[in-house]
Amino acid sequence: MLVAVKAGRLVLAGNAQEKTGYRCPGCNELVILRRGRHKIAHFAHRPGSKCRLGEGETSEHLLGKRQLLQWYRQQGYQVKLEAYLPQIAQRPDLLLTEKDRRVAIEFQCSPLSLERLRERNAGYRQCGISFHWLLGAPYQKRRLQVAKVAQFTQEVAGRPVLLFWDTRVGRLLVQRDLLQCSFVHGTEMGPVMMIRAQIHHLNGIQYGRGGGVIVRQMLTSLPGHYPLAACPLVCHDTVPTWPVLDEPVIMWRIRVVMALIHQPVFTFWSQANWREWLAVMAADHWLNFGCLDGRSLRDNLLVIFTQELLRERVLIACPDGYILFQHPVWFTSVPEKLKYLERGGFSRISALK
Ligand SMILES: [Zn+2]
Repeated sequence: MLVAVKAGRLVLAGNAQEKTGYRCPGCNELVILRRGRHKIAHFAHRPGSKCRLGEGETSEHLLGKRQLLQWYRQQGYQVKLEAYLPQIAQRPDLLLTEKDRRVAIEFQCSPLSLERLRERNAGYRQCGISFHWLLGAPYQKRRLQVAKVAQFTQEVAGRPVLLFWDTRVGRLLVQRDLLQCSFVHGTEMGPVMMIRAQIHHLNGIQYGRGGGVIVRQMLTSLPGHYPLAACPLVCHDTVPTWPVLDEPVIMWRIRVVMALIHQPVFTFWSQANWREWLAVMAADHWLNFGCLDGRSLRDNLLVIFTQELLRERVLIACPDGYILFQHPVWFTSVPEKLKYLERGGFSRISALK
C-alpha cells in the first residue's frame, strides 16, 4: 500500500520523513516503510499480520497507483489514494471526485474472478460511484481470452472498450479494435476474402486433427451430412462485432440455420420470440460481462444476423414479427460454393458495405 497513518494524518510512502511509526489505515497495526531498489516506496505489514490490505501487491501495481494519482490530479480531479468506503467495506485504488460525481479507479494487475469483480462493481453502484477498471501488464497480451475481454468490457463514449494502464510510459490506453469476425482478426479484409478464410477454418475444424465432437454432433442433424464449410452464405459473419460468444459467431449462425431447416416454412415468430429463439441457439456460449450488462452488445449480434436473413429472404418481416419464407440451402460441395463466390454470388445476395 502507498498510504499509512501517522499522528492522525495520511502519509504517502514517497513523502514519508521518519522511518517508523506508521500504522495501517485498515487494521491500525504498525507497518514497515519499505524503500527498496526494485519497488517504489510503500508500506507493508509485519510478517504474520492477518490484515489483507496491500497483500501481494506487485511493483507494477504500486507504481501504477502512484502514476495514476499524479495523472488524474493533472486532469483536475481531486484524488484520494486507497480511500476506504465504510458503507461497502471497499477500498478502491483511487477515488476521484469532480463536483458531486465520484469515480472509483481500479488498477488490476492480478487475476480477479468474475464474481469478485461483480461484487465490487455492485458495491460502487450501491454508493452511486461510477468505476473504471484499468488493466495492467498481465492483461496486455496479443490475444486476451474472450472471457476476460467480456469481463472487463466498459463503455466509453457509447462504445465498448478495454482500458489499460501502461506503467512503462505512464499512459492510459483505450482499446477499441477488438471487433472481429469469425476466425478473422482485423477488419481490413473484404467480405469475400473473409468468407474464404472462414471456409478454410471450418474445413480445419471438421476434418483437422481432433475435429470437435460438437461439430460432429452438429452435423448429424444435417440431411446428407454435408460439409460444414459448404454452409449457406448467410452463415458467414462479415460484419465485425465485439466478442459476446465464447465460440466463433459462425458456429452459432450455423446452428440457427440448421434449426431453421427443420422448421416448417411459414413458421411465425413475434419479434420477442424470434430474439429469444436466436439467443437460445447460442445456449451457454454467451459470455458473461462484469462491468456492464452486455445486452446491447448481444442484441447487436442478433440484429445483424436478422437483417441478413431478411435480405436473403430466408425470413420476411410482417408487422408484428417474422415469417420463415424459405429454407436456407446448403451448397452440395465446397468447390461449388467457391465457384459461386467467384461469380459474384455474394455481392448479389448480400449488399454489404
Ligand atoms: Zn492492515
